[in-house]
Amino acid sequence: MIGFNYFNYIWIAIAVVTFLILVSFNIKAPYGRHSNSKWGPMVSNKWGWFLMELPALVLMPAFSLSGPAPKNNLTFLLIGLWLIHYGFRTLIFPFKLKTTTKTMPVFIVICALVFNGVNGFLNGYYLGFLNQDNESILTLNVIIGIGVFFLGMFINRISDRKLISLRKNQDKYLIPNGGLFNYISCPNYFGEILEWLGFMLIAWNLPAVTFFIWTLSNLIPRSLNHHKWYLDNFENYPKNRKAVIPFVW
Ligand code: NDP
Repeated sequence: MIGFNYFNYIWIAIAVVTFLILVSFNIKAPYGRHSNSKWGPMVSNKWGWFLMELPALVLMPAFSLSGPAPKNNLTFLLIGLWLIHYGFRTLIFPFKLKTTTKTMPVFIVICALVFNGVNGFLNGYYLGFLNQDNESILTLNVIIGIGVFFLGMFINRISDRKLISLRKNQDKYLIPNGGLFNYISCPNYFGEILEWLGFMLIAWNLPAVTFFIWTLSNLIPRSLNHHKWYLDNFENYPKNRKAVIPFVW
């Protein structure tokens, strides 16, 4: 258990360093609108997404279910929520993208494979091999967490859907409007952050905290990059919009 906790702390430290480097040096993860062939060989966007997300989809349930730790309702709830998220993100989301010719660097796919692999492993290994709690799922943190998780999922899905539908068989970017887009540039990221905040509240264990910190470290710098990109590329971009947290940031 001590070794496992140290692994988590190191992984958190890497997340914080990643965040500081991305923000301080204004580095843009080179996929989507920031895609860049200077990062080496490229791969199809759709298959890149599928491959990147696959380790998380498989590893968390596999480790959770194969270990000797007692399985309780909370374990099954967490596995179920994970599968709902990663089943969609791996098997459906990539094939809904309208960008048929777009590519991303293999380097990004490898980084994301490691990221998703480690997060899937940590969350699954804890539930399958280390968890000794036999908590009821009728606790306040679980009930609030479920609400936050599904609210986040709803915001994430409708925002991604709106962004994807802006593309009508062309590669142009348009200004998204309506709903939370009137307040922030990246409601899809805001929803994703809420999802993993909810998951952390439900699980209330170290790997879920670690994953939430990683989600912030990835998505806050990326939303700041997107926000600046909109302001630089559209003269009429609404100036009162924030990047990712309504009214705040
Ligand atoms: P983006 O918002 O960059 O793009 C989402 C899709 O919408 C892409 O197909 C993009 O096309 C298209 N799009 C975006 N903005 C516009 C626009 N203004 N006009 C037309 N089309 C647009 O999201 P990501 O690709 O970065 O992320 C996708 C999902 O993955 C999100 O739900 C995000 O929350 C999640 N994610 C989670 C992470 C985590 O750490 N948990 C990390 C990264 C992503 P194009 O690709 O051509 O730009």
